[in-house]
Amino acid sequence: MLVAAVCGWLSTLAPDGGAARLAAAKGKAPGPKSEAPEPKPEPPPPPPPDCTQAKCLALTFDDGPAESTGELLDILASRNVKATFFLVGENAAKRPDLVRRTHAAGHELADHGYTHADLGRASKKTIVSELTRTQDAIRNASGVTPVLLRPPYGSTSERLARVTRRMGMAQVLWTVDPFDWRNRDTDDIERRVVKQAKPGGIVLLHDIHRTTVRAVPEIVDRLAAKGYVFVTVSELFGGKLTPGKEYRELESGAGQGHP
Ligand SMILES: [Zn+2]
Repeated sequence: MLVAAVCGWLSTLAPDGGAARLAAAKGKAPGPKSEAPEPKPEPPPPPPPDCTQAKCLALTFDDGPAESTGELLDILASRNVKATFFLVGENAAKRPDLVRRTHAAGHELADHGYTHADLGRASKKTIVSELTRTQDAIRNASGVTPVLLRPPYGSTSERLARVTRRMGMAQVLWTVDPFDWRNRDTDDIERRVVKQAKPGGIVLLHDIHRTTVRAVPEIVDRLAAKGYVFVTVSELFGGKLTPGKEYRELESGAGQGHP
């Protein structure tokens, strides 16, 4: 067991060590400096596209994190796609590792209430509790305090608008809904999203269902082939969202084909 572990450890080190030796052998006068490989800083991520010009689409995933979220993160990473995750607070508290991983992969973390309550019908006290507890769970796991809320069921109210305004949170609804929670057919979900997608749109999906997660590779590949670029919700609006206001899509822009 120990031998295997040590061999595994050595073999993971080998590529770096080999590269360092090669670099040293190639150098004309290997001084003490060329003995050690220089640390390569991570290149900064490219700036997000200007969605008033580019054909942007925001994929959003609600109700997680769940077991299937890990599979989704792998799919998004393999295609270098960034998305927005509206987390249910009690699920975030149960799976802080997945919250952390989602944030580390560059996705946007957002609030979907603590117990998935109907916030449009809730009292001020309930709203504040639902939002604050979710923010705390997400912050405890990732260090990030979300500034976006998706009210469960899309149910909102004047009261919710007032509370979110005071809490500095914008409300995010959607443009495209394939009803993936009801229709658990991967091909149907994929067809509906591709058909309904439009520049500046926000797509509502649920990563708690494997049938949805498995539709994502085709959705991304087919829409990318049509020229879409995938952005987070904050990126879609250029980082300028007004607290309390409701957002369903980015409405104007030369790149969006509107007259
Ligand atoms: Zn939901």
